[in-house]
Amino acid sequence: MDIFEKCRNYTQAREAMESGSYPYFIPLDENEGTEVEYKGQRLIMCGSNNYLGLTTHPKVKEAAQQAISRYGTSCTGSRFLNGTLAMHEQLERELADFVGKEEALIFSTGMQVNLGTISALISRDDVVILDKDDHASIVDGARLGYGKIERFRHNDVEHLERVLKSLPENVGKLIVVDGVFSMGGDLADLPAIYPIAQKYGARIMVDDAHGMGVTGRGRGTAAQFGMTDQVDLIMSTFSKSFASLGGFVAGDDEVIHFVKHNARSLIFSASIPAANAAAALAALHVIREEPELADRVNQIGKRISDELRGMGFNVGNSVTPIVPVIIGDDERTFLTWKRLFENGVFVNPVVSPAVPQGMQLLRTSYMASHTDSQMDQVLDTFKKVGKEVGII
Ligand code: PMP
Repeated sequence: MDIFEKCRNYTQAREAMESGSYPYFIPLDENEGTEVEYKGQRLIMCGSNNYLGLTTHPKVKEAAQQAISRYGTSCTGSRFLNGTLAMHEQLERELADFVGKEEALIFSTGMQVNLGTISALISRDDVVILDKDDHASIVDGARLGYGKIERFRHNDVEHLERVLKSLPENVGKLIVVDGVFSMGGDLADLPAIYPIAQKYGARIMVDDAHGMGVTGRGRGTAAQFGMTDQVDLIMSTFSKSFASLGGFVAGDDEVIHFVKHNARSLIFSASIPAANAAAALAALHVIREEPELADRVNQIGKRISDELRGMGFNVGNSVTPIVPVIIGDDERTFLTWKRLFENGVFVNPVVSPAVPQGMQLLRTSYMASHTDSQMDQVLDTFKKVGKEVGII
């Protein structure tokens, strides 16, 4: 049996590519933040995680350019060995202070934060308890650990309690949830999760990849609920509001010290280049000093949710700038995506297994830098296309 047999039989994506309606890996020629260019066509970007629009902010770009001049283009090694810069440590101190924790630790991506942190903490007798809508990187981090994995229905705290109740008292337990769920744009029910976690002696980790910079006036979902001290570990990424690449986890000194010396994705991978650290640091300063950017992107998200719902679209339970347009089958999801694209609006089609069957959707997301007139245009296009394909 040839190991590559499955590759020869894998025709799915090729068929879509040949028919010219393949919606993934689209190579953009230009990216100016709110607008992008593909083969000479201008599109309004409604499918990015650049929530605050900081990838094109002069202070952020300038910081990255200066960092390259000073430190070169790569650290060429792990944080553990030759790859730690004073700037990494400055960023860690400022992040810890920003999220209200003792220490923070930077990894090279958010994916690597979850892989390394969760797997380091979950030893053989421990249990990690996940929301069914948790991001893939959390699931993979849990799988890399040697402990047991349990799941509860999305934001269903009664189910969470049943799961916790069924576990032995004397095992270590870590509940991991997204702060803002990446597809639905809804928030983890932290106020309900915390007392249950307390009752059963479980710790809480929040993945705030989509919350940091956006919820809690920029300080994240735990801060929004006033629960910074109740959440044990907060992680986030630099690849969204922080306009860079990398990620971090923050918590108590002794926990971060342990993760720092046991997370394999940290120790066996090169650190983020100075340009990325400098961009994230500059973005952090903007996020801290201009909370009105978070206000702006949330207002845009609310306007889009309200108006799309008013037109008859199903936008689920979003309360953030992530607004899903739930369509419910592959064919109409791809058709709607295609017609929006042809009319100059870039969104992302999401089908199974990323979402359950029947929940196929267009993931739309917005930026503080989007103008009102761009949003008028997007809404008009949704109305026109939605009618044309018969979903409203
Ligand atoms: N967690 C969540 C909830 C995410 O959505 C993502 C990225 N989409 C990550 C973690 C991984 O972040 P990164 O892009 O930095 O690897």
